[in-house]
Amino acid sequence: MARSSTSVDVAVIGAGPYGLSLAAHLRARGVEHRIFGEPMGPWKTNMPLGMLLKSYPWATSLSDPKSEFDLKSFCTVRALPYHDELMPLPLSRFIDYGEAFQARYVPAVERKTLIALEPGSGFLRATFDDGETVRARRVVVSIGLHPFKRLPHEAAHLPVELCSHSGKYGSLEALDGKEVIVVGSGSSASDLAALIHERGIEVSLVARQPKLHFADGPRRHSLFSRTVAPMSGIGHGWTLATCAKYPQLIRLLSKDLRVRVANHRALGPLGGAFVKDRVVGKVPVWLSHAIRGVETHNGKVMLDLVDSDGAPRSIRADHVIFATGYKVDVNRLGFLNEALLRRMQLVDGAPELSAHYETTVPGLHFIGPAAANSFGPVCRFVYGTHHPAQHLARHLSAVLARFRPALQLRPLDRTVSP
Ligand SMILES: Cc1cc2nc3c(=O)[nH]c(=O)nc-3n(C[C@H](O)[C@H](O)[C@H](O)COP(=O)(O)OP(=O)(O)OC[C@H]3O[C@@H](n4cnc5c(N)ncnc54)[C@H](O)[C@@H]3O)c2cc1C
Repeated sequence: MARSSTSVDVAVIGAGPYGLSLAAHLRARGVEHRIFGEPMGPWKTNMPLGMLLKSYPWATSLSDPKSEFDLKSFCTVRALPYHDELMPLPLSRFIDYGEAFQARYVPAVERKTLIALEPGSGFLRATFDDGETVRARRVVVSIGLHPFKRLPHEAAHLPVELCSHSGKYGSLEALDGKEVIVVGSGSSASDLAALIHERGIEVSLVARQPKLHFADGPRRHSLFSRTVAPMSGIGHGWTLATCAKYPQLIRLLSKDLRVRVANHRALGPLGGAFVKDRVVGKVPVWLSHAIRGVETHNGKVMLDLVDSDGAPRSIRADHVIFATGYKVDVNRLGFLNEALLRRMQLVDGAPELSAHYETTVPGLHFIGPAAANSFGPVCRFVYGTHHPAQHLARHLSAVLARFRPALQLRPLDRTVSP
């Protein structure tokens, strides 16, 4: 195991759409940095193969410094089918695009995991799973949603053979030959139910909601409807359009309002438009059913349900998948040292951020979904990569230039090969 100690100006933790976009902008500005993580990691291992993205293709590009490599140009050059909004974007194509982006703009991603982050004097000390310790003037955490999986407390005691979170799949092979229940009503629940059913596995869906909601199918919007409810990269309507375009304005709102906006009603559980016909009428669905308890019996899992009239029902299966979402809570990040956590002010579990995405711990920044309670719901989507990438790269380039000798014309680009 390597046990070296090195220094760097900026350490970017995470190589998903947010980390890759930021690294591309840092590189273009000649800011010394290193980036860690598995390129497009959760997209490759935690989302089911065959999934279709819910966001419009035109709103699903990473941010590059010259705005020259969006998803559309990637598909055009490779003669791949593409339409801004009339066709869905398959997960595999988005992964290919992200990896092509990484090869072109961020060639030196280091595939290692941050295991500890501690305060130093004028720097943060980051320790990785290969034993290397890096002293970084700035650390930008862009680790996405997957560390924040949410399971209902009723399931806490279940063994992993009987229960999992939707964020585990990847491949569905482990479910072959089993009888499965999916709990939830959002896009992960409907995507998984459709894909499991199409694999020939017996599956049913249990939801608290009285109805499953799906996004509208692709259609041309009239001038009137575009005026009343303008379309944005994260949904329809003036509120979401403003959030999508001006994330920096959201910070000016009160904490309560910011949290409400970050969890905007219109962004509640919603299946993708293209999955509706693959679920409705095909997969047995128990609507208006809440979970009262979960038991195990003879190697099976039993869900003890109650409907909206109070009538009880029990259903059982070999495995239950909780598609119950994610909730950002930095206290769950094992790598954050106690001293850092004590100094970090939080808004509903997420770090309170300055205009430069900096937490109340100097030098520690968060971007991506963990920034949503400060910069609004756009941070929950790939569409939100542009503002932090452009803004933070400019800011870090300016503040770190102060540490450079006056005669040095261009800071060293110390990216390291994988
Ligand atoms: C099922 C599902 C479907 C979605 N569909 C869409 C969609 O259609 N459109 C859309 O815009 N958004 C969608 N999202 C939201 C989207 O996933 C996030 O907004 C986006 O991935 C956030 O990007 P990110 O770069 O912050 O994190 P991620 O893409 O999650 O990448 C996280 C990175 O952090 C790294 N990492 C994690 N922990 C560590 C560590 N300790 N040390 C080092 N590296 C680490 C990982 O290896 C990875 O490189 C979906 C989310 C889910 C769960």
